[in-house]
Amino acid sequence: MNILILGSGGREHSLAWAVMQNPKCDKLVVAPGNAGIAAIADCAALDINDGAEVVQFVAENAIDFVIIGPEAPLAAGVADDLRAAGILTFGPSKMAAQLEASKGFTKEICDACDAPTAGYARFDDAEAAKAYIRTEGAPIVVKADGLAAGKGVIVAMDEATALDAIDDMFGGEFGAAGAEVVIEEFMEGEEASWFILCDGENVLPIGTAQDHKRVGDGDTGLNTGGMGAYSPAPVMTDDIVRKAMDEIVKPTVAEMAKRGMPYQGVLYAGFMIKDGQPRLVEYNCRFGDPECQVLMMRLGAQVLDLLLAAAEGRLDTAQVNWADDHAITVVMAANGYPGAYQKGTAIRGLDALPEDSMNMVFHAGTSMTDGVLVANGGRVLNVTARGNSLNEARDRAYEMIGQIDWPEGFNRTDIGWRALSRS
Ligand code: ATP
Repeated sequence: MNILILGSGGREHSLAWAVMQNPKCDKLVVAPGNAGIAAIADCAALDINDGAEVVQFVAENAIDFVIIGPEAPLAAGVADDLRAAGILTFGPSKMAAQLEASKGFTKEICDACDAPTAGYARFDDAEAAKAYIRTEGAPIVVKADGLAAGKGVIVAMDEATALDAIDDMFGGEFGAAGAEVVIEEFMEGEEASWFILCDGENVLPIGTAQDHKRVGDGDTGLNTGGMGAYSPAPVMTDDIVRKAMDEIVKPTVAEMAKRGMPYQGVLYAGFMIKDGQPRLVEYNCRFGDPECQVLMMRLGAQVLDLLLAAAEGRLDTAQVNWADDHAITVVMAANGYPGAYQKGTAIRGLDALPEDSMNMVFHAGTSMTDGVLVANGGRVLNVTARGNSLNEARDRAYEMIGQIDWPEGFNRTDIGWRALSRS
């Protein structure tokens, strides 16, 4: 079959890498793609948030199946446009994607199905929000309701920070996303992510992971899109997984179906775990980046069968072939990221690295200029390895990094520390 993947990051490179290993994949196009993806698939310049343009491309290129990577096309309703045109699509409808696009909506769903999450209140007025913060006190968490590229959440350890966040949000710092805010109880604990395929009714978990949001070693410095990840996450014990499934994931999927907005796609659930109890922090409607890279490394070619089963509503008969393995990905970013950084610097040494089912460098912000690979974004490479243990995978990933010649790039040196400190 002919397959189109929408997106251009490390997430989409890893999806493309896994999908194209499956014999069902005859032709793979990624839009818009990046330099790493261009080495393994066709890339097409498309406005992926424009449903009509995507539908037209699909018709002209005899595409049989579309996999939507990032949240923006989902929130724009591109999955709806594709399905309306009769095209098999992996990814939730615009209504179902509210689980990521509106934090207030997710809270409403949690209330309706009794899913454990932080206590909260919603406001569309700054003074009322501030009065609530003064009553509740700090620590407290202030969130812009809508999509804000991970920047619309302020975990305020003191009241003044929370009040300032209200001014920023209602002052328009996050545009329409901040017209409403959700103020939440601060939850303590350890965070982990879980990825669950859904076909509207049935669910199939495909792995746990933990990421590293801060830019510096020891989880210090500014927040980023993610500096590394590993899977599985040992904090997600069998007992926690069972509770998360029975108390949070299944009730959510059932509630969405009940509301006439069945959820089809991957549900990326973020949990805070404390005293043996998971509580929902957030849902995302797509694979995490860089968590996707470790999941793809572990799942390999079967991913296409699983995504097809989700899109075709037959997850009840699908199953994952698990290996007893561990995967890790370390992000290499341009110096200065997440602040200002230079583009166009040359990256060398990748050609000598292994590319197989145990070792892969997935590209994020890269492009080719006159035959030279150059950095073209903040997060640039995802150096990914799989092994029998997390230690083994970690050592190999850092060995590969040692062979990459990119003086203008940096990486964290402690990816995996949380899991490794448990063993
Ligand atoms: P991203 O997409 O980057 O994960 P987001 O904008 O969707 O972020 P959330 O995941 O809701 O926002 O929050 C971002 C981070 O803030 C969480 O990963 C968590 O570390 C912290 N956080 C969010 N809500 C709470 C809470 N109630 N208590 C403590 N920490 C929280």
